[in-house]
This record gives sequence, structure tokens and C-alpha cells, in this order.
Amino acid sequence: MSPKAIPYGRQQITEADIKAVEATLRSDYLTQGPKVNAFEEAFAAYIGSKYAIAVANGTAALHLSALALGVGPGKRVITSPLTFVASANCVLYCGGTVEFCDIDPQTLLLDIEAVRKKLEGAPIGTYAGIIPVDFTGAAVDMEAFRALADDFGLFLLEDSCHAPGGYFTDSKGKKQNCGNGVFADAAIFSFHPVKHIAAGEGGMITTNDSRLYQKLLRLRTHGITKNPKEIKKNSEGWYYEMQELGYNYRLNEISCSLGLSQLERAKEELSKRKKIAERYIKAFTNVPDLELLDTGQEGHAYHLFVIKTKRRKSLYDYLKKNNIYPQIHYIPVHLQPFFQNLGFKKGDYPITEAYYEKCITLPLFPSLKEEEIRYVIKIVKSFFID
Ligand SMILES: *Cc1c(COP(=O)(O)O)cnc(C)c1O
Repeated sequence: MSPKAIPYGRQQITEADIKAVEATLRSDYLTQGPKVNAFEEAFAAYIGSKYAIAVANGTAALHLSALALGVGPGKRVITSPLTFVASANCVLYCGGTVEFCDIDPQTLLLDIEAVRKKLEGAPIGTYAGIIPVDFTGAAVDMEAFRALADDFGLFLLEDSCHAPGGYFTDSKGKKQNCGNGVFADAAIFSFHPVKHIAAGEGGMITTNDSRLYQKLLRLRTHGITKNPKEIKKNSEGWYYEMQELGYNYRLNEISCSLGLSQLERAKEELSKRKKIAERYIKAFTNVPDLELLDTGQEGHAYHLFVIKTKRRKSLYDYLKKNNIYPQIHYIPVHLQPFFQNLGFKKGDYPITEAYYEKCITLPLFPSLKEEEIRYVIKIVKSFFID
């Protein structure tokens, strides 16, 4: 018997989450209240960054970060073609130019050697920054990217949407959490319900740079400041200044209280993700025509569980017929019609394109029940072995 539909990702809402949201609904503030700060502080502590700024969603986090890092007309920024479109779009929002480099076939992360080649092949000053993505929850080696960025005077913005709680081990043997701001200038996260922490919608920017932090705070609220140290004229109590063009990218109290409540069990949920991934790896090892990704990395955050197969299209249809709803991550950004109109074409990033032909994302989320895990394993195996 097929159980109820199993999506590739789903939020988990506990009684504690509901109580937290209810308390906010009964409080004095629906926005711009104490939950914003509380969520930001707890998130910064979890990730290990100095500062965190809550914003409306992950895309707004990318947009504001790109702006604050100086992206604008004439600025070129490099990102991975294997990501959600927002990682590239944020550059375009600011009037900048986005370019891609291919991925490493093993890690599926932005290939640092390809980036180095691109940078070395252009006059110094051509590029302004790099946006690496912790794709599937695998941590980018930001130490290596920092060294490269410094050689060329570039900013580093880490898209850590897949990797809260993930880490890599640096050259000194120290664990470095994704988005902790030690190597990147800033990092961003999303609280869309399919991500590790659900807040309805929501995003976070982390940084260790106090100047960048102050700028992001202003940009989040229309470029307006009331900080006496920042305003030109100091006088009346009601006085504020709009000093630059900002946005309303604030995150409300309801979402912040939900995010905060979810954050309290983030570590626990991450280890559940890891256990499910390990079950899959064990079950799918040595299945003919089924390729596992190299997910052995210790600090993997297991946002997505991807397998590869030459028979991807029929597997996709077969799973749907059996009430399992897989997803494809991602259609390469440069193959989207909008980007094709900008001049990108099929064949530009062959490693990404070859990966895309075969990839499929299986259900992975902490509230996946034992019988659902067994069902997914059984159905996937029955496709390959009949
Ligand atoms: C989800 C996601 C985003 C965008 O986040 P939203 O909150 O949906 O705006 C950006 N980059 C990556 C890699 C993502 O997975």
C-alpha cells in the first residue's frame, strides 16, 4: 500500500513552535519587536558569527549583501551555475553583471581552479566578487576561496542556504561553520519551509564586519538611520535621516518567533537528517545504475539527498506514480531562458550540464517517519532491481 504523498522536503512544526507563535500573536509587537533581536542573537551564536541580520527571505539577504558589498553597474561577480536562480539574480538586481564557472565533478561545488583561471585570464579589476554555494549542504572550503579572493581584491559572499550547521575543517585542523564569517565577508541563509529552519518565509545575513553590519541594518529599513552617531544633524527626538536608497526587507515577529523556536532543536534535527542520509547510502550502495554522490564529508549539513542515474526521467515518473515526489536540483541557471537571452548557451558549463542530466533529489527531512524511509528505499530499489 502506498502511504500518503512523500515530498522531497517538508517543515516540521511542534507544539512548542505553535506556542511560540501564539505568544507573539498575543504580544504587543507583530513586527520590529524583541523577537527579531532574539532570533538574530541565537542564530549568530549557532553559526558562530559576530553579527546576524534577519531579513524577509533568502533572496532579500542576497540582494542586500550584494548591495552592501558594492555590486552595481560595471561590477562583475562569479557564481556557480548549479544553484537556485537567486544566487545569480542578486547581482542583476544591483545592476551588476553575473558570470559563472563550472563545478567540481566530485564535490559539485564551484570549482576554485576554474575561478582562478577566469580571474587570471582577465585584467586585474575585472571582477568584484565571488558567490560560492554550499550546494546540498556540502561546505565550500572558504579558506581557499578567501586566499584566491585576496589575491584579486574580491569580496566573498557565501550562499549557505543549504548548510546551517555544516562545516569544513581548515588548514589548521579547526572546524569552520558554514557562514561563520571567518573567511567570507558575509553569508546568507533562508528559512523557507523546505530548508533546515522554517519561518514561513525568512532569511538571515551573517558577518563579522561591523561596518558591513551597520550598512545592512540601514539598507533593511529604507536606508534610514536614527543612530545619533550616524546622523548629520542632531536634534529633535523624532528626527531620522534617509541617507541612501534602502528597502523594506524586515522580517516580522511571527516568523522570528517561529524561527527561534525551530533553532532550539536545529542540532537535533540535523543529526536526524544525517541518520536518514546514512540509511539511504547503506541501502543504495552497489545498486546497478544508481550513482551515489560523494557525501562522506564530516561536516555535511544534508539539506538534499541527491542520487544520479542515466534513467532519471523514468525514475522521476516511477516515484511520482508511487506517491513519492522527488525534485531536481537544479536546472542549471545558465540554461534558463532569461539567462540564454543574456548570451549564455548550452555547452558553456559541461560538468554542470552532465550532472543535471542525471540528478534527482529524494525525500530527506527530519520528520520523515520510519515507515516512510523504508518505503522510499523499497520503491527506489524496486526501480533498479526488478
Ligand atoms: C532557498 C535558496 C535561496 C533563496 O531563499 P528564499 O528564502 O527562497 O528567497 C537562495 N539560494 C539557495 C541556494 C537556496 O537554496
